[in-house]
Amino acid sequence: MSKVKSMNTKPEVLFRKALWSQGIRYRLHSTLPGKPDLVIPKKRILIFIDGFFWHQCPIHGSIPISNSVFWEQKLRRNVERDQNVNQCLEDLGWLVLRFWECEVKKQLSDIVDTVATITNK
Ligand SMILES: [Zn+2]
Repeated sequence: MSKVKSMNTKPEVLFRKALWSQGIRYRLHSTLPGKPDLVIPKKRILIFIDGFFWHQCPIHGSIPISNSVFWEQKLRRNVERDQNVNQCLEDLGWLVLRFWECEVKKQLSDIVDTVATITNK
């Protein structure tokens, strides 16, 4: 289950285009722990766009009813792994930003503003 998100999901593409139009330059396909979706090397910023199901968004993430014990454990491990990855990357001196894919879809401009504010500091 290392590659749980598809490469070019649409909200992520829109997000990247919006960042680019704000003059924010990033790289893709990082090999850092957890494979961040975007890397802004100059600012030591990493961005993850997390899918609501695999990373268990508090609003939309839910445990499937069938096979619930299996899913509960599997999804809990994903969430724990995200936390470990965050810690590991922070220890390496990165600022880690995580956004929910569903959030990116609905509040794209707010999220882009947030990233722009942080990167301009
Ligand atoms: Zn959600």
